[in-house]
Amino acid sequence: MADRSNALLRHAAFHEAGHAVARLHVGAPSTPVEIDVSGAGLSHGTGESWKCRSDGQYAQWDLLTVLLAGPVAEARVRRRSLTAILFTSGQGDFLQINDVLAGLIENGFASEKSGWERVESEVREIVRSEWAAIEAVALALLEKGVLTGAEVEACCAAVRAPAGEGVNAAGVRHG
Ligand SMILES: [Zn+2]
Repeated sequence: MADRSNALLRHAAFHEAGHAVARLHVGAPSTPVEIDVSGAGLSHGTGESWKCRSDGQYAQWDLLTVLLAGPVAEARVRRRSLTAILFTSGQGDFLQINDVLAGLIENGFASEKSGWERVESEVREIVRSEWAAIEAVALALLEKGVLTGAEVEACCAAVRAPAGEGVNAAGVRHG
């Protein structure tokens, strides 16, 4: 039982970390994230309409990126298919994605097939390149259960420190 609930917590932590890191990636304000012992997770909204770096249809594509990043991160850590996640723990995200995508299709910016393909390939790339940040947020979330938006940003900043910084600060001794 302990193992099972640990696994649920871990899956939820990576799922919420995926959403949280994707928010920062598209330039949306960071928000609190939390998980609970039942394996449920929550990425808070801002309570306002969706805002990120982009406008118009591009803002909608960025919203889709954030929505799909949770399920993609969870699928990666569980080694399950994305489809399996979208029909179980990711179902809420799946429904929202379909809603947002329907708006884009209605306005002629995508077909259902091209829309899903575009979002999925973009999110897979982001999750791959941001994996260290996702892992850092997930581990902090497992430890604390809840993180503020500022704590999410701090986790990401810690793993994104420029590679040469340690060398500049401490110097390198030779011989
Ligand atoms: Zn989600």
